[in-house]
Formats: sequence, structure tokens, C-alpha cells
Amino acid sequence: MRRRLEAACLRAGRRPAEVRLLAVSKGFAPALLAGAAAAGQREFGENYAQEALPKIEALRGGPAPLTWHFIGPIQANKTRAIAAHFNWVQSLARLHVAERLSAQRATNLPPLQVCVQVNISGESSKSGCTVTEAPELCAALVHLPGIQLRGLMTIAAPEPEAARAGFRRMRELYESIAGQLRSTDFDTLSMGMSADFEAAIEEGATLVRVGTAIFGRRDS
Ligand SMILES: *Cc1c(COP(=O)(O)O)cnc(C)c1O
Repeated sequence: MRRRLEAACLRAGRRPAEVRLLAVSKGFAPALLAGAAAAGQREFGENYAQEALPKIEALRGGPAPLTWHFIGPIQANKTRAIAAHFNWVQSLARLHVAERLSAQRATNLPPLQVCVQVNISGESSKSGCTVTEAPELCAALVHLPGIQLRGLMTIAAPEPEAARAGFRRMRELYESIAGQLRSTDFDTLSMGMSADFEAAIEEGATLVRVGTAIFGRRDS
């Protein structure tokens, strides 16, 4: 996996250090995650709070501290647990959810690091705000004390051509919002999964979210 990521960076004329690898561990047992952590993986992504909390607990006290990213749909009754146990939330798409997370984040913890999820393909099955909503939402998030806006996230369309076109539009949107915010913390463009992370890297991803290409097929 690392080798494929590095090869994609070299093809794109980018340094491998510019692209972070998030291991998406939903549906995989804690022992598999522990193996990845022992091999040096530090960032893990989970979609469901209920599944993630016991795994976060089980992986505590390993060789190094781990960083947990929430990347799934955010249910209103789960924001408190998410604010308490995760370091990042990448699936933020509504201001009122952001306000809840900000208010529920304990003040003794660093702010929750967040990405705004954009529905770049416009498919009704996908969550995320629209391209038009994204700049205003980002501008509003900057004022919430319990969160820190880090960038944008998207899930691409399944067809390779459409996926690449979406990645390209995401990069334009990301650069336009970065210019508008002038924040040095806005540094994350999260796009690319097992099926399309190489194209995403070629189009400017700074973080790829990969599950099956690391851990194998999910049973569930
Ligand atoms: C499951 C998931 C991934 C990883 O998908 P794979 O195809 O297993 O690499 C990435 N991002 C999100 C938001 C996911 O839900």
C-alpha cells in the first residue's frame, strides 16, 4: 500500500510526505488495527461511533498515540461521543452540527480538527454540502472555538472519469476557499479511497482514506 502511494506521488511529481494515509478500519477487528499500528500506521478512520468507541479503547496504550478520524454520517445523538473520543471529523456538512460539536468539545482537549464534506458528484445518495454552500460554511466554522477547520473532504463518483473530474473540481474549490480564508491551518484535501486514491493523489489530495486496499475485504 505504502509503495503504491509513493509511486503515485512520484508520477505526480509530489513528495510522499505531502500525502497522509488514513487507514479506514470500519468493519475490521481491533487485532487487525493493532497490527497496522505496530507496523507504524498512526491515523485511523471510523464511520460509526458505536463501533468505533470500543476499538479506540482497545487500541489505547499501544506503541504510540493514535489519531482517530470520524468519517461517517453524523447522527445528532452521537455528537457528544464524537466530540469526546475523536481527534478529527471529516464528514461535517451542516453549521448546526458544527455548533454542537464545538460546544460539546471539552475545553481541556485541543479543538476538534474538521473537514467540510462536499458532495462533488451531486448524487443524491451521497452526503455533504454543495459546492455553492462550501465557502460560506467554511467561513462560519472559523469562528467556532471548539473546532479548527482543516480542509475539505469528498467521496468520488464510482466511474473513474467522473471521479477524476470531481477530484479536479475539489482541488479548485479547496484552493479558492484557502485563498479566501488565508488560514495556515487550512491544509487538508481529503479525497481518494481504495479504488481511486492514485487518481486523487495525481489531482492534489493531501490525505487519502483507504480501507480494503490495506486490510482486505470487509465481511459485513
Ligand atoms: C469506507 C470508506 C472509505 C474507505 O473505503 P475503501 O474502499 O475500503 O478504501 C473511505 N472514506 C469513507 C468516507 C468511507 O466511508
